Amino acid sequence: MVSDSRPLYDRPIDANRKIKVVCLGAGYSGILTAIRFPQHIPNLELVIYEKNADIGGTWYENRYPGIACDIPSHVYQFTFESNPNWSRFYATGGEIQEYLKDVAWKYDVEKYVRFRHYFQRAEWDESIQQWRIEVTDLNTNKTVTDTCDILLKGTGLLNTWKWPDIPGLHDFKGPYMHSANWDSSFDWTDKRVALIGAGSSGIQILPNIQPKAKQVVHFMKGKTWISPVGYGAEEEGESDGVEISEEQRKVFRENPSIYQKYRHQIEGGMNKSQLVTFRDTDIQKLFWKMSDDSMKEKLKKKPWIYESMRPDYPPGCRRLTPGPGYLEALVEDNVEFVGTGIRKVTETGLVDDNGDFHEVDAIIYATGFDYSFNSAATPIIGRGGKTLEEVWTPHPEAYLSLCAPKMPNLFFFLGPNGGPGAGSFIAMLENVVDYVIQCVQKLQREYVASMEVSETAQKAFSEHVDRYFAKTIFTYKCKSWFKRNNEDGRIVGLWPGSSVHAQEALKSPRFEDFLFVQRPETQQNILTWLGNGMTTAQENDEKTTGYLDTVDVPPAINKGPRPGKKDASVNGHEDGLSPHGETEVKVVSEHIEELTAAVATVPL
Ligand code: NAP
Repeated sequence: MVSDSRPLYDRPIDANRKIKVVCLGAGYSGILTAIRFPQHIPNLELVIYEKNADIGGTWYENRYPGIACDIPSHVYQFTFESNPNWSRFYATGGEIQEYLKDVAWKYDVEKYVRFRHYFQRAEWDESIQQWRIEVTDLNTNKTVTDTCDILLKGTGLLNTWKWPDIPGLHDFKGPYMHSANWDSSFDWTDKRVALIGAGSSGIQILPNIQPKAKQVVHFMKGKTWISPVGYGAEEEGESDGVEISEEQRKVFRENPSIYQKYRHQIEGGMNKSQLVTFRDTDIQKLFWKMSDDSMKEKLKKKPWIYESMRPDYPPGCRRLTPGPGYLEALVEDNVEFVGTGIRKVTETGLVDDNGDFHEVDAIIYATGFDYSFNSAATPIIGRGGKTLEEVWTPHPEAYLSLCAPKMPNLFFFLGPNGGPGAGSFIAMLENVVDYVIQCVQKLQREYVASMEVSETAQKAFSEHVDRYFAKTIFTYKCKSWFKRNNEDGRIVGLWPGSSVHAQEALKSPRFEDFLFVQRPETQQNILTWLGNGMTTAQENDEKTTGYLDTVDVPPAINKGPRPGKKDASVNGHEDGLSPHGETEVKVVSEHIEELTAAVATVPL
């Protein structure tokens, strides 16, 4: 767009410099980037490197039986892309993936994505004020290098699955797989299957394999709550009816206002759920009791399971899952519950911590991900050679979850403290993207080379995070990925507040919290970018009145005609116009062509 070589002071104010943005990952964050950045950043070159062969991130990768989102579908969508056709209250992974593909197609997202490109390394080059990036092209196994002004890390929070540390794991002779690396050829019909783990994944898998399996031996070494009501559902049972009938969907499709009202209702319920996360409140105690009663009731056929899995911390301390059908499946006759850890795996089965042997045909490890935030394998090396790993020792910290000291022009999507503890994560993500866009607009328009958050601002945010969580249930002793899979320690997985709180906090950047490096063009005079007093549209003789199309009309306080209003067209004299006003207007309009021609000859 700006190819002219005129100095800045001789260019229009909006002669935005070219900006190259690289985003890592094409899940929700990357897709949003590919929609919003081209919309708001002119003169943009955008590249998204995605390790998989398709978009979708976690929804492309996770394919275990029962994979679904335990957040209501109507909340788990972009604010600007309502889907009235969700077929279930908790959409399956496949349906979410289809939604993302539809959205990506509509906004031509894939043209920015280089699929099967695995990010390896990034290093900040001070001399060019850009990131140098290395990516492996998985098609050719060759290293691709690239540079960019802005680096966005949208690789997801829970991306790296790992085998648990159980001796003999690979000695097992039958099929075995991790939930996040599902073998789609595996058929569990009439098989004895060990299911290890009762996090969100294991909880979804059990009710889906139990009906056809001969037997499921379910290992749960820790404790967990199963939520009596689903997120966004107001009452117990409301969300168990997971199917949304075609009749209902038709109503949503044909009545956008009814559907929008429904979105408000479900999302409002999600926002309210924050109230149960504050310690020692009545509502929190009530929810604790409701969860306890519900679990006790649903497990009454096998009360020893209730005794074994009932935690002594409040529900929500570790990520809560509604798990429709999970407790019901647990009490089925073909499910054996083992409330201990696993001593070892043999060729034919597993030995539990009590020394009992369980012979099985197949093993499913729903044992979770790497929660360390460790980036050593794919290093990011910032200003002065400081690695992200060093910046994040002893714990990962990010200013407003978005950026870290020594890491200029690097922004995280769902960085440390980036997930809202209550409310829509997608709505928050949209605000994160809008926030980063505002930063990039500043860098572009004002010819700023780089911005880096100050240590002081980072510390202030971290202190705030600690103060906030001290009053919440998240800091009870419970093993949770919010604390990097520890029982104690800093909360790094959650935003200090609700989604709506985050949306408010991220409305506009506090630029005083950043350190800036100017580009050479503005080093003599920081305001050189004010340019020649014109805009590009003026210079190109294009439409200059766009502001009239986007008027922010203030709400009128008084409606109708002002009392005592005079008809000025009948008698202009009384309103201060000369009695000859009409004649004067006529004279001006007669000369309008002459005037226009004269203005056109004024030298630029
Ligand atoms: P997870 O929550 O970390 O659960 C892992 C389970 O495996 C735990 O029960 C853990 O027990 C057990 N485990 C780990 N190592 C073990 C070992 N050596 N021996 C025996 N048991 C072992 O993992 P996840 O279920 O995959 O879920 C991770 C996160 O992904 C969730 O919290 C959620 O945020 C996200 N997720 C979301 C959805 C969704 O619908 N939105 C679905 C799936 C996952 P201990 O806790 O006792 O260690």
